Amino acid sequence: MTATDTTDTDSTDTDTGPTAAGADTIAHFRFFALEVLRTRRLGHSFLRVTFGGESLADFRSGGYDQSLSLFLPPPHREHTVLPSTDEHTWFGAWRAMPEAERPAMRSYTVREQRRTPEGGDEVDIDFVLHGDTGPASAWAGRAVTGRRVLAIGPAVAENKSVRFAPPADTDLVLMYADETALPAAAAILDRLPSGTRVKAWFEVPHEDDRLRLDTLADADVTWVVRGAGVGRERIERLSEVVRASEPPACAAPYAWIAGESGTIRAVRRHLVRERGVDRRRVRFTGYWRLGASEEELLAEAYSGRAPSEDPSAEL
Ligand SMILES: Cc1cc2nc3c(=O)[nH]c(=O)nc-3n(C[C@H](O)[C@H](O)[C@H](O)COP(=O)(O)OP(=O)(O)OC[C@H]3O[C@@H](n4cnc5c(N)ncnc54)[C@H](O)[C@@H]3O)c2cc1C
Repeated sequence: MTATDTTDTDSTDTDTGPTAAGADTIAHFRFFALEVLRTRRLGHSFLRVTFGGESLADFRSGGYDQSLSLFLPPPHREHTVLPSTDEHTWFGAWRAMPEAERPAMRSYTVREQRRTPEGGDEVDIDFVLHGDTGPASAWAGRAVTGRRVLAIGPAVAENKSVRFAPPADTDLVLMYADETALPAAAAILDRLPSGTRVKAWFEVPHEDDRLRLDTLADADVTWVVRGAGVGRERIERLSEVVRASEPPACAAPYAWIAGESGTIRAVRRHLVRERGVDRRRVRFTGYWRLGASEEELLAEAYSGRAPSEDPSAEL
């Protein structure tokens, strides 16, 4: 997983999620074999894919914005096959696959994990369908019951791929999410206790992407239906919406913002520089970048790293 993700710097630090290095993460993530049980259209841009599989008995979502890495097969393959899922060798073996055969690794959010009355385990992932321009979106658009994929996901609920972590004194949660981060935002809202004050801006492409949100929190949500617009123009228009609205008075806000990198940087800058939010209390994550695939972001992320930091050491 590649996500520009940080809480205290203006540069675009990189978080490599479940595949990130560190001895403490060794037992935290592992491979899971997932099988599509069913799909359901949630809105113009969203498809919910519900996965099952025996290995999910050991899956431990930490909730909130818990993410995982999916490995999605190329279009001519029905299922994902990797030469190795061994913790020491999978990365090298995956990278060595011919490009046309190599499953695409992509980051997604665990929208929900549940145990069914029959004792099975299910995980929902809400995919944004943005056409055949990316392997994950293309795969989701063709997903049917019985298709098998692999994932690196959490084996313990307390893991570094849950990023939402408001300090105890937080008296207002500020949220900004585009459609790719709406599943995470919705899962966060699901869990927030009654009385938590939230001001949220959710950016979606179409009117009927304004998904139903369930929360006990005292949440004031502004939907921004984006329509057309690319690059700078889009970024400026969106951050303008945030700039124009007045969040409730507060002493200790915590901000969680995620979505397209350029927009997220602009919103974050606004919150820190113009609204005076303490930069250490802003969790901002670039979920994707206009014009760049996740491979390109991953390559960028690892280009400056020592060999010992490659993801093969990360399961
Ligand atoms: C922690 C984390 C959690 C995430 N959770 C989710 C989630 O729950 N649901 C979800 O849908 N996405 C989620 N994403 C975002 C998702 O990983 C990216 O959108 C990813 O690029 C999609 O892969 P792809 O193969 O479809 O496109 P890529 O091959 O990565 O990109 C191909 C092209 O499509 C563009 N592109 C990528 N995503 C979009 C988009 N949404 N709309 C328009 N153009 C796009 C890229 O800029 C590029 O030009 C998450 C990302 C992170 C880091």
